Amino acid sequence: MEQSFIMIKPDGVQRGLVGDIISRFENKGFSLKGLKLVSVDRAFAEKHYADLSARPFFNALVQYIISGPVVAMVWEGKSVVATGRKIIGATNPSDSAPGTIRGDFAIEMGRNVIHGSDAVESAAREIALWFPEGVVGWTSSLHPWVYEK
Ligand code: UDP
Ligand code: MG
Repeated sequence: MEQSFIMIKPDGVQRGLVGDIISRFENKGFSLKGLKLVSVDRAFAEKHYADLSARPFFNALVQYIISGPVVAMVWEGKSVVATGRKIIGATNPSDSAPGTIRGDFAIEMGRNVIHGSDAVESAAREIALWFPEGVVGWTSSLHPWVYEK
């Protein structure tokens, strides 16, 4: 089953949005496979965002991610990567539809509350980076009430 790396950024933690955000993924029917509150250092944040290292906002982005603890999560389910991006909303909260996390909770790109993997391949890379210890293997007893088979 597909997995995505979802991270509540420092502003989401500071603003007390952790419970609401987790509820949105739970309510959809996705399964939580990994969860931890962590503070990461600059080198780790730079590795997570390595693909963006040439962009003008890179330093500010890294500074943002290391400015406080984040909630790192692995969510599992059918098409969770693409659907997770829809639940999160567009990168720029000005373009995020109401009803999405960024549409409901954010105003600026540099304070957009949450990260979600953009592809199955990047999800695998990010999960390996953030959860080198691995995640928890379990199956929800609600599975047959969420999936046809
Ligand atoms: N970002 C920014 N300015 C930009 C583009 C991105 O501050 O012009 C930040 C924003 O917080 C975004 C993160 O960099 O979430 C990673 O950028 P990406 O393009 O991967 O967006 P995402 O996948 O998070 O929607
Ligand atoms: Mg991205």
